[in-house]
Amino acid sequence: MDHTSEPWECIVVGAGPAGLSAALYLARFRRRVLVLHDGMSRAMRIPLTRNAPGFPEGIAGPDLIGRMLEHCERYGAQIREAEVVEARRHEGTFELRTADGTLHHGRALVLATGLHMGQIPLPHDEHEAAIAAGVLRYCPICDGIEHTGTRIAVLGSDRHGAAEALFLRQFSEQVVLLPCQYAGLDADAHAQLTAAGIRVLAAPVVRYAPQADRFDLYLEGRDEPHAFDVVYPALGSQHRNELAQMLGIAIDAHGCTDVASPLGTEVPGVYCAGDIVDGLDQISVAMGHGAVAATRAHNWLRAEDGHVLPAR
Ligand SMILES: Cc1cc2nc3c(=O)[nH]c(=O)nc-3n(C[C@H](O)[C@H](O)[C@H](O)COP(=O)(O)OP(=O)(O)OC[C@H]3O[C@@H](n4cnc5c(N)ncnc54)[C@H](O)[C@@H]3O)c2cc1C
Repeated sequence: MDHTSEPWECIVVGAGPAGLSAALYLARFRRRVLVLHDGMSRAMRIPLTRNAPGFPEGIAGPDLIGRMLEHCERYGAQIREAEVVEARRHEGTFELRTADGTLHHGRALVLATGLHMGQIPLPHDEHEAAIAAGVLRYCPICDGIEHTGTRIAVLGSDRHGAAEALFLRQFSEQVVLLPCQYAGLDADAHAQLTAAGIRVLAAPVVRYAPQADRFDLYLEGRDEPHAFDVVYPALGSQHRNELAQMLGIAIDAHGCTDVASPLGTEVPGVYCAGDIVDGLDQISVAMGHGAVAATRAHNWLRAEDGHVLPAR
């Protein structure tokens, strides 16, 4: 049980831009709010984001999250690091169990649990160093412009990879699409890529060799690497939807919750925010979702307590 016998008015799962925005709003609505997170916000991996509104010089992900934590705590939100392994409804509240067996009870819930990206097979430290060096990128919308006119490789020869390559073509004439393990491109996609001047290589990558200022890719059957200024894997993602599923919230074919789930879900009192929601996986969107989810949760609690005008 929590240290108090009273349930939290709202528990937020996730301490990324979505969860921390929700917690800030709830705390400023004077709600007792607990944030539980397992330290895996994707934002913590951003070396410098240059498209977060209000930061013209850019801001590092850990700095942004650090400021958001401070902002929430200033208004009384409690933040605890723990993995939530189980969620269920129990005697009129939501019961969350963390990996150490602790139970937390909340009257309302905001799920801002994000996603895991499909990554290229590199040891963790080498992978993160390549991200920090800017030779490995995962988000063309975030940083495509920073590679204007450079040699860009997109990894993943399926329709998702093709779409990403076509998106990046806006920024460079030197975009190449390569398969990681298999080539699954249909004739239509192939024709469109060719028309856009995007080269499609058929041999799969057998070795990934990030350097300080470029990324070398070794293809099957060739000793010499192909050198690129930046590599964008387009390998999909796995949404962290386990808790949503445990509570009976619908998940779509891509693993996301519904686009309207920041407004409310089929489970009264549960709201979703950020990358878990179908849509654009961006900091600004996650923050907006967090604000909406928190305000909806607050108003739902007010209605439950009879603090709103009756409907006419
Ligand atoms: C390298 C990189 C660069 C990027 N660059 C940009 C950029 O420039 N601009 C931009 O807008 N976006 C960028 N993004 C995307 C951005 O990071 C995400 O869109 C954003 O972090 C989504 O926020 P979120 O709060 O939904 O999810 P996240 O920030 O991923 O947070 C999810 C939270 O849920 C928690 N969690 C999940 N499941 C559990 C559980 N069971 N128990 C406890 N805690 C749990 C995690 O610990 C984490 O705190 C980038 C991402 C990466 C990886």
